[in-house]
Amino acid sequence: MKNTGFTMVIVGRENVGKSSLFNKLINQQKAIVDDWPGVTRDKLYGECDWEGHTMNVVDTGGILFEESDVIKSLIVKQIKPVLKAADLVLFVTDAQAGIIPDDSRILDFIKKCTDKYVLVVNKVDNDKLQQDAYEFYNMGVDKIFPVSVTHSIGLDDILDYAVTLIPEETEDVSKADETTKIALIGKENVGKSSLFNALVEEERSIVTDIPGTTRDTVDTKIEINGQSFLLLDTAGIKKRNRIKAKVEQFSIGRAFMNIQKANIVIHIVDAIEGIQEIDKKILGYAFENFKGMIIAVNKWDLVSPEKREALRKEYDDYLKQNINFINFVPIVFISALKEMGIEKLIDTIFLVQNQYNFRVKTSVLNKVFREAIYDRNPSSKSGQLKAYYMTQVRTAPPTFVVFVNKKERLHFSYLRYLENRLRSSFGFEGAPIKLKIKQRENEQNT
Ligand code: GDP
Ligand code: GDP
Repeated sequence: MKNTGFTMVIVGRENVGKSSLFNKLINQQKAIVDDWPGVTRDKLYGECDWEGHTMNVVDTGGILFEESDVIKSLIVKQIKPVLKAADLVLFVTDAQAGIIPDDSRILDFIKKCTDKYVLVVNKVDNDKLQQDAYEFYNMGVDKIFPVSVTHSIGLDDILDYAVTLIPEETEDVSKADETTKIALIGKENVGKSSLFNALVEEERSIVTDIPGTTRDTVDTKIEINGQSFLLLDTAGIKKRNRIKAKVEQFSIGRAFMNIQKANIVIHIVDAIEGIQEIDKKILGYAFENFKGMIIAVNKWDLVSPEKREALRKEYDDYLKQNINFINFVPIVFISALKEMGIEKLIDTIFLVQNQYNFRVKTSVLNKVFREAIYDRNPSSKSGQLKAYYMTQVRTAPPTFVVFVNKKERLHFSYLRYLENRLRSSFGFEGAPIKLKIKQRENEQNT
């Protein structure tokens, strides 16, 4: 299921039940731990499914006002952008403890960051406490959800409400006029900052910094060959003169947020280190979110020229064998520092952008479709399947719908086959393809 990108952020003081709430919402799915330097508790990222929508949930780990000023300012500095980026802040309090001063201070802080918040009054384990929960309206909030996380009471109401806030996905909207947003992603020290410099220092590029739209970030607009691209979240990347503060450590949560906003993800790996587990996780995330993708293998200058050909092949093979779901992603070998391969990378950005936005003519598409069906019949053991036609309903990502007589008769592997046929006919380099099956209305009862 595609992640809607809708993000709920849980905040509140200690012991109100934030992590219990987080765990219930992500319902046994795995959480991603994000180190929060200098802070006792880590930040956690997870996904929550509700009525066909996948949303993100972030547990900020708690705001402690009795901490020293240094830690407090560190926490505030780190939480602020997360709150600003949130689509819904779940401010958790404790019905059994009642309103305490820290709650009011936290609420003031939330209000400074966003107006998209609700108050979750937890530990409402019985009817008597239900009455007490309404006392929290005195804090001056518009929306209260009395819940008992332990007894799973009231959580549905929060999720029902959250789902109403998710913007509807509109199909077939032309995105052609939008500036392509690029996220430079990769672990610490792979060369993001150096690549950023190499891209903006390209003679052909014109550079403007613009404040990010959703949070305390800066994006950089660059113009290459007369076309604008937005490099996302560049404040964190540009650090030429920056002391490497701990706060700037690689944050997978931040990477995920940038991937969600991007059209194209350039995933950078260190040529010597190779592709690691964390890289697979990030690439998998970009793929699941149907983003245009490029892998840039950096520090190629450290590989001696006579070894390059063999290593290049090793990377290609590795991708095909070990992460074969993204074997359509182009790999570019660069040195950000020595400015090698940057031209090729730029060409690849243009290529992937083009492929991501590519629309196949319906007549051409159906010719390919008919040939595919002729070569391999889609009928399975479960019965005769008629596949009528295929149509491309949108671009970015390229999305196709196959119309059939019986939806359940189409085997999953057949979709993979169709995808391969689309790729061998049209390329779609670096572009994940979405394939949907629809049953023709009048076939439902046959
Ligand atoms: P956090 O510090 O805000 O993350 O809080 P935790 O999730 O660790 O919960 C703090 C304590 O409150 C734990 O002992 C939980 O078992 C308890 N707790 C959480 N939710 C409820 C609830 O709905 N009712 C009651 N009675 N206790 C709860
Ligand atoms: P970031 O943490 O991903 O932004 O990485 P940086 O751009 O700060 O680079 C980390 C280190 O790797 C620095 O010492 C860079 O000089 C070095 N570096 C970056 N790109 C290259 C490259 O192409 N070749 C070599 N040899 N070193 C590089």
